[in-house]
Amino acid sequence: MHFVIIGNGVAGTTAALTLRQREPKAGITMISGESDYFFSRTALMYAYMDRMSLHDLEPFERKVFPKQNIRLVRDWVTDLDASSRTLRLKSGHSLAYDRLLLAVGSLANLPAWPGLDKAREGVVHFVTLQDLEKCERLTNSTREAVVVGGGLIGVELVECLVFHGKKVTFLVRSPWYWPAALAREESEIVTEHIRRHGVDVRGGEEVSEVLVGDSSRVRGIRTKSGAEFPCQMLGISIGVGPAVEWLRQVTTPPHVQRGITISPSFATSLENVWAAGDCAEFERDGKPTVEQIWYTAKRQGELAARAMLGDGIHYKPPIFYNSAMFFEIEYTTAGMAIDVPAGAESFFCRIPGKEASIRVIAHHGAVMGFNMLGARWNHTFFERWIAERRTMDYVLEHLAEAQFDVEFGRLDLAAVAPSYREWKQQEAQAAAAR
Ligand SMILES: Cc1cc2nc3c(=O)[nH]c(=O)nc-3n(C[C@H](O)[C@H](O)[C@H](O)COP(=O)(O)OP(=O)(O)OC[C@H]3O[C@@H](n4cnc5c(N)ncnc54)[C@H](O)[C@@H]3O)c2cc1C
Repeated sequence: MHFVIIGNGVAGTTAALTLRQREPKAGITMISGESDYFFSRTALMYAYMDRMSLHDLEPFERKVFPKQNIRLVRDWVTDLDASSRTLRLKSGHSLAYDRLLLAVGSLANLPAWPGLDKAREGVVHFVTLQDLEKCERLTNSTREAVVVGGGLIGVELVECLVFHGKKVTFLVRSPWYWPAALAREESEIVTEHIRRHGVDVRGGEEVSEVLVGDSSRVRGIRTKSGAEFPCQMLGISIGVGPAVEWLRQVTTPPHVQRGITISPSFATSLENVWAAGDCAEFERDGKPTVEQIWYTAKRQGELAARAMLGDGIHYKPPIFYNSAMFFEIEYTTAGMAIDVPAGAESFFCRIPGKEASIRVIAHHGAVMGFNMLGARWNHTFFERWIAERRTMDYVLEHLAEAQFDVEFGRLDLAAVAPSYREWKQQEAQAAAAR
């Protein structure tokens, strides 16, 4: 039996190691066009800020792969023929498989801004190792940078550029930073914080043209409001999407919508082909979903491997959870915190004197989401309270239990109870008035 995995990210590598644990004798080959070895994409920014070497980004010793008899191939897969179970590689080689896992991850979304095609130098993304190399190469010759796009990757790139002493403008199309994840109140805290680091954050600005200098290097951008922002580096961070375009052109394309459509057992529409990680599209609460989250990819990699081995897997996406940093501000979210159903109740409390806040959302009397800023929270409490359908009263009474130990800096939650009482009174009055 020969298992082949396209992609050596966390989904592919977890799958390879899971397969090896169960199948000591099978052939396992993992292919990647991007890197020789699995590396932590989430830590890309620490490499750019010179806090970690490229080698430090690798979660496993390199010797693990020969020891586990996992063959690594550095190449791009260009064709998939499921009828003959063959892959064709960019190098011209072919590779036969018995069972195949597509763990091909995400790529940066590309805009169609006028002038962008003429900018042959100075435009960067921040997703791949090659992006990192390009950023590093351009850093010394950059005085001013513009980063466009308001998600997490954008803010990480901004932080790196600030670290390198660049004058950074951060342009966000929406009225406030990252409405997909932060309500206006939280976004204001984050935006104030980013501004305190000297970044010019502009909301409601949309790029109308990329301006290019004599040597084809970007020299600035113009926005629809008519403003111009000079830069020698333009960071485009308008989201990522499943790396599936190439799969639409292969001999036997799998069914692809936004991502590769998978069943609850990670099977694609092609026989003997499974998919997992950022590239896979699954159903969450009946909605087609792609989730570009490290732990989701890891979990899916393991489950997909088990499905490839014939285990009866029925993937039920766990309660959504994510955590990140906006410069020094910790962020933890769980459940449904933004795109909430009509009638959901949302209690928000800013912690006085701190760049910190809590938000708890409930629907039909049961908590359904948390959005927390400015401290580290143990998300397993949030997940349990959501699963147990706890009331807002219960959760706020027990909130302190979800804080990590003092070494992570506990928040003083004294302001929460009075703020909650006041909020409940206002909600009751509003209900009576209706
Ligand atoms: C800068 C940055 C910061 C992030 N921070 C966080 C965070 O804080 N928390 C979090 O949860 N998530 C974060 N993420 C997302 C997280 O990194 C991803 O969800 C996760 O790495 C996805 O893993 P994967 O194995 O599905 O895919 P990937 O890691 O993308 O691996 C897929 C691999 O397949 C290769 N490949 C694709 N097509 C082919 C082909 N045709 N032939 C050969 N090889 C191919 C790719 O080159 C790539 O190496 C971050 C992402 C980025 C870019």
